[in-house]
Amino acid sequence: MLPGEDTEFAFELRACRWAERAWEPARDDSVVVVARQLGIRDRRWDTLVLECDPAGLRQRARFGLDALDSDLLHVVRHAPEDWTYYRDALPHPGYPWRYVREALHRAADRGVVETRKTGNRIECRRRWPYPDWCRRIVAIENKPDLDASAADALVTQLEYDVALSLADEAWVATRATDGAVEPVLLEDLPVEAGIVTLETADTGGVATGSVAWHARSLAVTDPGTRILERPDGDAFDASAARFEYVDSAWKAAKRREIAERAYARGWRSYVETMRPDCRHYRPRADGAVLPWCDAKSRCQTAGECSGACPEFEPEPPAWRTRGWPIEGGPGAATKRLLARRRRRRRPGMDEVE
Ligand code: SF4
Repeated sequence: MLPGEDTEFAFELRACRWAERAWEPARDDSVVVVARQLGIRDRRWDTLVLECDPAGLRQRARFGLDALDSDLLHVVRHAPEDWTYYRDALPHPGYPWRYVREALHRAADRGVVETRKTGNRIECRRRWPYPDWCRRIVAIENKPDLDASAADALVTQLEYDVALSLADEAWVATRATDGAVEPVLLEDLPVEAGIVTLETADTGGVATGSVAWHARSLAVTDPGTRILERPDGDAFDASAARFEYVDSAWKAAKRREIAERAYARGWRSYVETMRPDCRHYRPRADGAVLPWCDAKSRCQTAGECSGACPEFEPEPPAWRTRGWPIEGGPGAATKRLLARRRRRRRPGMDEVE
């Protein structure tokens, strides 16, 4: 293990890289897209694995790398083939039409639908049909050190995931140790959740994974239950759990939004919130592209690598003007490298720009 690699952040990057290389989708022909740190209002997942239809993914690329939010999805999914008054073409969204008009203009500005004015009426038509490109969503919680107290904390999160069933599978990824995963930990977690152990030491920087417990498929097309509040387990806490039902249509819409954000973000976007323009920042060419700080002589976390870091030093202007190693200096080169890798995982993306 590299110095500084014992953090949850470094483990998460390893887990994402492992999933990108080794995840076995339910259908052999699915393409895997991995993202990290995204979710819904009251639940954020560490790693998301999307199993995608290859043809659909290629068609999705025509809409650009940026995510389509819920308003834009409403427009692109229902935009008609031929010019039509927008209120006749799009189903009532459940909120005022003026927001639909705004979304329509944004969609036109992005070039994903066409609009025109006929008299006072705005008409629209689609440029391409929006594809059904994401087949399955797998949510992974990363816990490098799965001891009894970490497992306790996970139970609440995984019970939430299972009850809501927004993702097709829920998993825990943990670091492989010399011992087997304690059976008692397996007993505590919901049986529907899978456990995978990742080995990062002595494997040349590339994690290898082995499944300790297989996940069960969750009922994503059924209505789900959102757990809002639960008793804290204290002997004196006699409160009841609070929950609400969510219907299948809500879940389907949320899954589309999550897939869109995962498509746009990927897992390499961590560099956007770090300081690769610091002279001490160095990407390691060890497969996982873990960031490395020369000043600290270890992998740094995204939290500490900021302008507020006491050792931050901007890269010297000469690095940029001498074209080191390519134009823009090492910070810009790192961002370009990671962006290129993200695009490479999005079939068809290089053909649209
Ligand atoms: S900002 Fe701090 S942590 Fe980041 S590379 Fe520079 S010295 Fe290292």
